[in-house]
Amino acid sequence: MAGKQKFIFVTGGVLSGVGKGITAASIGAVLQAKGVSVSIQKCDPYLNVDAGLLNPAEHGECFVTIDGAETDLDLGHYERFLDLELTQKNATLSGRLLQNLIADERAGKFGGKTVQLVPHLTGAIQDAIQLAADGSDVHIVEIGGTVGDYEGLSFVEAIREFAGRVGRENCLYVHVVYVPFIGTSKEFKTKPAQNALNDLRGFGIVPDCVVVRTDTPAPENVAGKISQFSGVREDAVILLSNAPTVFQVPLLIAASGINDVLTRFTGNDKKPDLGKWEKIVAAQSADHDKTVTIGLVAKYMDNEDTYISVLEALKAAGWQEGVGVTIKWINAETATDEDFATVDALLVPGGFGERGIPGKIAAATYALEHNKPYLGLCLGLQVAVIAAARRAGLTDAHSTEFDPNTPNNVVYIMEGQQGKESTGGTLRLGNYEAKLHEGSKAAAAYGATDVVERHRHRYEVNQSFVHDIEKGGLVISGTSPDGKLVEFIEAPNNPYFVATQAHPELKSRPNRPHPLFVGLVRAANNKN
Ligand code: GLN
Repeated sequence: MAGKQKFIFVTGGVLSGVGKGITAASIGAVLQAKGVSVSIQKCDPYLNVDAGLLNPAEHGECFVTIDGAETDLDLGHYERFLDLELTQKNATLSGRLLQNLIADERAGKFGGKTVQLVPHLTGAIQDAIQLAADGSDVHIVEIGGTVGDYEGLSFVEAIREFAGRVGRENCLYVHVVYVPFIGTSKEFKTKPAQNALNDLRGFGIVPDCVVVRTDTPAPENVAGKISQFSGVREDAVILLSNAPTVFQVPLLIAASGINDVLTRFTGNDKKPDLGKWEKIVAAQSADHDKTVTIGLVAKYMDNEDTYISVLEALKAAGWQEGVGVTIKWINAETATDEDFATVDALLVPGGFGERGIPGKIAAATYALEHNKPYLGLCLGLQVAVIAAARRAGLTDAHSTEFDPNTPNNVVYIMEGQQGKESTGGTLRLGNYEAKLHEGSKAAAAYGATDVVERHRHRYEVNQSFVHDIEKGGLVISGTSPDGKLVEFIEAPNNPYFVATQAHPELKSRPNRPHPLFVGLVRAANNKN
């Protein structure tokens, strides 16, 4: 695109958690479909330095980038929607910016000046935005939380000031508001949204576009009312009710007034080519002759966001294979063999801490003993190794994460990690290469022997127990290039028992599912 780089800022009002991230990603998808190059960034106002130490039950999955940044799950949405590989610069947190600012202050870099939220933190935010924008045609910035939150004010001020840096005409402000439907009076109430727009205006930002989120379709007069009170032209107030699937949102956005807003803003009047999204939505809604049930042996039972990339990878594998995928949540804390018997395949995802570990080991044991297809992700590999060693007679085999004193430490802490167990940013993080053994099931699934996957772990397989692990039914099928770390294991006698120390779910895309998940769905399908 000729001309100056453009910036789209997506903020939220009324409530958070109503799809600001999906809206931001979908706007990006529509721009890509018009041939525009897009970059994207999440700014989170909380004071953590990264998302690594956040409780997944509260905050959902920790997404890991290729360079090892531990981020908010919205980066996962961005990667799946925009098929980009993001890095640390795409995740901006107050905690990290403040840490750097204070370090600079201590290093004497401010030449005696008073260090303040404005202009120093706001300046750092703007620098972070320009760094992440990285030469794209359009850079999208989503601000976490809602406008008016005490902790987010520096971000709102920073994006307001940003128009001064690059020109107001190069900035598009999109505000996502929620409009509730009141069942008793049967009406949509726009008052909270009006107040949210007033708040935004109070901070000096008049939005160019308002996305109105509702649970069910709202009548047009809702847009009219919001337009009247906010001063945003009516064709730029878009009603977006809950979609049957998130991947429909790019299609809905392209069909809405936002498409014209984007055309005016970028000067690119190409009709978006939405073939990719139409295909994904068609695959999702297709009827299937066959359905497989995959048992997800989980410990966070009440928050789907905790395993969102795993769930998306499983679903995408089903779409590609033309097989319905039903995910059965198996509570690792109460799981019995009966739970394992009733599913076509088992998946043990990543995790930390002791809760639910016996149930996860039992799942791997069951899969080894009953030739049940199994996919182990990170912790799912480690519990499989424990299961195999115990089957071989080492009944107290364990990971030192859960039993620090076991003499049969078949999974143990990596070199240099001792003493760092509860610290942030010290795991083995991000992309690492692995060499798969020729002829292994993993190599067959990938169609390659050199692979790169993202990691997030502190413990590893203790190779001095390899004979016991093999006796218990597993072989090592991939290692780090120097052979020191076990990256893949599998059960030669099982149609598909594959586990990896990595997190392949993070690389899966809705239109390009990860091969290890495809392998699991295929094996589950062959079983019934
Ligand atoms: N807790 C294990 C480790 O730190 C597994 C981590 C994971 O599953 N992401 O090695």
